[in-house]
Amino acid sequence: MPHQEVDPKALMERTVTLISTLPHHLFISLKEAFMHKTGLFWFNTDLRMVDNPALVQASREVEHLICFYCLSPVSREKTSPNSLSAHRLQFLQESLTELDSNLQQLGQKLQVIYESAPEAIAQLITLHDISAIYRSSSPDYSINEDWRLLKERYSMIKFVQQGSSSLISPAQLTFPLEELPTSFTKFRRKVESIQINDAVAAPTSLPRPPTRITTSQWQRNFPAFRKNPSSLFSGGEVQGTKHLCNYFGRNLASSYKQTRNELDGMDYSTKFSPWLANGCLSARTVMTALSHYEQSVEKNESTYWIYFELLWRDYFHFYALKYGVRLFSFDGIKRQKPSTSYYAERYQKWCQGNTPYPIVNACMNQLNSTGYLSNRGRQLVASCFVHELNLDWRYGAAYLERQLIDYDVASNWGNWQYLAGVGSDPRGHRQFDLSKQAKVYDPGNVFIKKWAGENCSAILDSVDAADWPISDSATAERI
Ligand SMILES: Cc1cc2nc3c(=O)[nH]c(=O)nc-3n(C[C@H](O)[C@H](O)[C@H](O)COP(=O)(O)OP(=O)(O)OC[C@H]3O[C@@H](n4cnc5c(N)ncnc54)[C@H](O)[C@@H]3O)c2cc1C
Repeated sequence: MPHQEVDPKALMERTVTLISTLPHHLFISLKEAFMHKTGLFWFNTDLRMVDNPALVQASREVEHLICFYCLSPVSREKTSPNSLSAHRLQFLQESLTELDSNLQQLGQKLQVIYESAPEAIAQLITLHDISAIYRSSSPDYSINEDWRLLKERYSMIKFVQQGSSSLISPAQLTFPLEELPTSFTKFRRKVESIQINDAVAAPTSLPRPPTRITTSQWQRNFPAFRKNPSSLFSGGEVQGTKHLCNYFGRNLASSYKQTRNELDGMDYSTKFSPWLANGCLSARTVMTALSHYEQSVEKNESTYWIYFELLWRDYFHFYALKYGVRLFSFDGIKRQKPSTSYYAERYQKWCQGNTPYPIVNACMNQLNSTGYLSNRGRQLVASCFVHELNLDWRYGAAYLERQLIDYDVASNWGNWQYLAGVGSDPRGHRQFDLSKQAKVYDPGNVFIKKWAGENCSAILDSVDAADWPISDSATAERI
């Protein structure tokens, strides 16, 4: 059976048109009957005003609105293995600050709550008699689980979610999610003809917060981190939009396909990912700018390839939605356990850029210093982790999750599954020849030198599985 879903935007427009034709007294009573008193808008990876249809819907349906973002305690714990890197925290703080200031221009205020989301929402429901909760749909399994549990627990509350994180919204898929192809190519063929909706304009007004709400001084309680004044990226919707205009304004899109595999620099790829991942920009906004460029400047294979890569992002988003918790399972979606083990020393060396592979070390040093790594670099470090170091891929994915400014749950874990041979790769085994890759992508050793890739120990293991010291000569033979 074809998957048929109502387009909520069209439905809303039709309803508004219908209601506006009613006599005034009927219109008022209908408005009162349908108006929910206090609504809650739960921001996640949609830290923006433009192309946020769920926010627009909330703005039309409630009298009072609480806009809130949850930073779970795990992200704040400095010693916790799940804590976020300073790069991620900085970008997030900048993005939240800007969102807060945009909300304030419409009489709103962002509440940032440092608790687990279900607990925070439960308290807000009780304190403010919430009657509707809104959010943008997300591929994040744990957020979706929270949402599901909240819906179960509060059946009297209206729960609204709208898809705006991907180019193609879940409602536009022409097949049920369970039938998502296991390869990207088959997915692309199925969706390429789908017309991508335009980005939705930002709301022009927002309902006020309830009077009883205390003003949140969230900046004071934000986790401490060492600020990097020369960070490559600044968070926020305005910065993201500036970067988007700058990228297309410099005609870089016309040569994207030729340059996208390079390792270093700001111009060889679009660098949209930090803003996309935090939701400061939506994929549809990027697509609108790309189409405009194609119409006004040039349309070629490179401009198509930007769309192609955005489709990869969509694919992993649907993949995460389809497979849920299996995105994080050792045997992946293939249910095939890779033969790996856990070597503490190898893991540490990989994280610190101290493996016997200079190209991998350079990439890890770049990642640790900037919070960003090229796509080629990510493939090389992941391949090394899985195939050369024989480590459990999930530890590598978790390390990137903490470090990457552009961390996106679906793209990160989906790509790692792919490279570990337990995901959507039809070839099933993708091991990069690291010295050949270094020759092709860093022929003059410039990248390796810049990121100190050669400052490393030539020895991979100094102890054996029983923690027994291995002599240098024995180790050298094994490598
Ligand atoms: C092991 C590994 C982990 C990764 N983790 C992440 C992650 O956490 N977050 C993330 O956004 N991307 C991730 N990627 C995908 C890709 O490396 C980055 O999206 C890209 O490097 C970001 O830089 P850019 O914006 O300049 O990309 P561009 O090359 O300019 O591509 C344009 C956009 O297309 C999307 N895109 C490009 N390549 C991919 C891809 N392979 N998978 C999904 N989307 C893609 C991104 O949104 C990107 O911003 C990962 C790739 C690998 C191999």
